[in-house]
Amino acid sequence: MRLKKSYGQHLLVSSGVIEALVKQAEIKPDNVVVEIGPGTGNLTRELLKTHLKKLYLLEIDPQMIEELKKIKDSRVVILQEDATKFDFCSLGEELKLVGNLPYNVGSLIVENTVFHKECVPFALYMLQKEVAEKLLKGPSWLSTFLRTFYHVEYVMSVPARFFIPPPKVQSGVIKLIRKEDAPAIEDLKDYKSFLVKLYSMRRKALKKKLREELLKTAGIDPLTRIEQLSISQILLLYNLSKTQEVEER
Ligand code: SAH
Repeated sequence: MRLKKSYGQHLLVSSGVIEALVKQAEIKPDNVVVEIGPGTGNLTRELLKTHLKKLYLLEIDPQMIEELKKIKDSRVVILQEDATKFDFCSLGEELKLVGNLPYNVGSLIVENTVFHKECVPFALYMLQKEVAEKLLKGPSWLSTFLRTFYHVEYVMSVPARFFIPPPKVQSGVIKLIRKEDAPAIEDLKDYKSFLVKLYSMRRKALKKKLREELLKTAGIDPLTRIEQLSISQILLLYNLSKTQEVEER
């Protein structure tokens, strides 16, 4: 089979790594699992050794779909879908998302996960290591967006030689566990726009991006830069900017 670079196809071929991933997915008998980018099914077959209740496979490439059809297990449902846009919540209310993600769209899949946080209490993703590390600590709008709602844990690094073909970069696995006390934010798209704006021109002082009055009310020095703020300070600014909007109307 010819693997497609455009779909980020790097198949995981180390049984040790595959077993470690499944172990880290902490699968319980009643779990409904969604595997993103199953490819030829290497990780899928290991997942099926657990007692999971149902396994949805989200794969974009029709050629891979043909391969996946060879897996005979009544718990499997194959869906030809784009995981960057897919409505995960259409599959259930308590999902476990797992995948060796296509690295070219890894960040978009993480973003789409946050947009469906209501039905995703847990995810285990393998990404480009650099991307995984940046999600863990920031600074980036996506890291803050993610960490507003999830605890992010670094699980392990995986060297390129465990894949066919080997990618040019190292890989990193992260675990996302939804925060029980996550803030209620009504409009996630609006929160995203707010963060994108704050993190653009990262080195500029906050007073270039927000009204000084807002910063004063929040007790934040207008000369502060975004990477110096904690998530709770960012949330405070966001909530204050919303109340001020209402008052201005
Ligand atoms: N999990 C497999 C394959 C990983 S490669 C393994 O570890 O061996 C990434 C897989 O994601 C490929 O099969 C690729 O076709 C698929 N893919 C790429 N873009 C996708 C997208 N937007 N939505 C769903 N799957 C995608």
